[in-house]
Amino acid sequence: MDSGAWRPPAPARLVSARLTAWYCGLFSLSLAVLFVFIYWALDGTLRKANSELLHSKVKEFADTYRDAGIPEIRRDASQKRSDELLVRVSDSDNRTLFASLPYSDPQGEQALAGLEARSIQPMERLFTVSVGKGGAFEFANTRLKNGDLLQIGRNVARRRVLLKHFVESCAAVSVPVLLLALGGGALMANRALRPLRDLTATVQNIVATGRLDARISPEKTAGELRELVISFDRMLEKIQALVEGMRGVLDNVAHDLRTPITRLRGVAELALRNPGDLAGSQEALADCVEESERVITMLNTLMDISEVETGAMKLNLQPVDVAELARQLTEFYAEAAEDQGVLISLEAPGRCEAVADENRLRQAVGNLLDNAVKYTPAGGRVRVSVSQAGGEAVLGVRDTGIGIPAEELPRVWERLYRGDKSRSQRGLGLGLSLVRAIAQAHGGECRVRSEPGSGTEFTLRIPLAG
Ligand code: ADP
Repeated sequence: MDSGAWRPPAPARLVSARLTAWYCGLFSLSLAVLFVFIYWALDGTLRKANSELLHSKVKEFADTYRDAGIPEIRRDASQKRSDELLVRVSDSDNRTLFASLPYSDPQGEQALAGLEARSIQPMERLFTVSVGKGGAFEFANTRLKNGDLLQIGRNVARRRVLLKHFVESCAAVSVPVLLLALGGGALMANRALRPLRDLTATVQNIVATGRLDARISPEKTAGELRELVISFDRMLEKIQALVEGMRGVLDNVAHDLRTPITRLRGVAELALRNPGDLAGSQEALADCVEESERVITMLNTLMDISEVETGAMKLNLQPVDVAELARQLTEFYAEAAEDQGVLISLEAPGRCEAVADENRLRQAVGNLLDNAVKYTPAGGRVRVSVSQAGGEAVLGVRDTGIGIPAEELPRVWERLYRGDKSRSQRGLGLGLSLVRAIAQAHGGECRVRSEPGSGTEFTLRIPLAG
C-alpha cells in the first residue's frame, strides 16, 4: 500500500455547521412564533378590556343622561377625566352638543372635527378616530332616547406603549437567547457527530498505516450511531480475519509450492544433463507431469475453498438424493479400499433428498471417503451411513483407522494442515478445509470425533429438501 500517496481529506465540518444552523434556525422560528402569539394574545386581551370598559361607560353615561340629562353628564365627565375618557353627545346630524376631552387641546372643539366628519357607526362596534393632539381614540357609541348620540372614547396610546414595551423586551431577550441557541446547537452537533469523527479517524488511520486492529469504542455512543459503530467494528473484525487468512494462505502456498516446483526443476535438469538416456528422460517427463498435476490440483482446491468461503461460488442448488450419492461413491472407493485390505460398507435408506449442489456435495463426501480409506490400515473397516434428523440429511463416515490426536483435531480444518502421522500418505492438507467450506455454503456443517488408534468419524449435515 502506498501510504505516502494518500492524503486524508480535510475534516468535514460542513455537516456540523449545517446542523448548528438548522438547530439555531428552528429555535429562532419557534421563538418568533411564541413572541407573535404572546403579542397577539396580549393585544387581544387589552382590546377586550378596553371594549368592556367603553361599553360599561357608555351604559353608565346613558343611564345618567336618562336620569338627569346633559348637565349631569358634564359633571360626571369632568369628574372622570382621570379615566382618560372622551365623552361626546351629538345630535342626529352628528353636530357636537357636548364634549369633554381628557386633556386640554388648544384646538378646543375643533379637535373633534374628525369625529364629526365620520358617519355614525353601528352600535356595539368599536371604531378608532384621531382626535386633535390627543392622537388615536377608540370609541363606543349608543343612540339616546331623544335621538342624540352618546360617544365615549379612550386613548389607545397607553395600549400601544405597552405593546411597544413588549416588542422591545422581546428584541432585547432575543439576542442573548439566540446566542445561547447558537452555542447549544454547536455543542449538540459536535456531540452528535463525535462517533462519526471517531469513525473517520479510525478509517484514516487504517488507510494510512494499513493496520486493521483499530476499533472504535461503542461505549461513547448511543442509539443508531452505536449500532453503526458496533457494525463497523464487526466489519473490521471480519476484514481483519479475511486478510490474515489470505496472508496465511499465501504464505502456505508459497511454502508448499516451493517443494514440488524445486523437485520438478531438479528432475528436468537431471534429464537435460543426460540427453542420451531416453528411458530416463521419459521417466523424468512422467514425474514432471505428476508433479505439475499435484500443483494444479492444489491451486484449484485453494481457489475452490476461497470461492466457497467468500461466497463468490455459485451453488447450483437442487434436490439431491444423498443416499444415492453415497451409494455411488461407496462403490467408487470399494476397489481402492479392497486393494488396501479395507472393508467398506454402506447403510442408507431408499431415498434421502437434500437441497445441494450435487457436484460440490460429491466432492465433499468423496474427500471424506478418500481420507477414511487412506488413513485406515489393512484389516480395518469404513462404514458410510445416511439418515435424516432435525430437518437435515446426516451423512456419516466412520473408520477404524489411525485416528487423530486430540491436539490435532481442531487444526484438521485448516488449509494445508497435515497431521504428523499422515505425512507418509499422499495429500495436500486441503481436503477437510474444502469439506467444511462446502458444508457451510449449503447452510450445514461438518464435525469430527476421533480416538487415536481406534478410528475417526466425520458427520456431514445439510438441510433436507422441502
Ligand atoms: P490430507 O491431504 O492430509 O488428507 P485433509 O485436509 O483431508 O488433508 O486432512 C487433514 C488432516 O486430517 C490429515 O492430514 C490427517 O492428519 C487428518 N485426517 C483427516 N481424515 C482423517 C481420518 N479419516 N483418519 C485420520 N486422520 C485424518
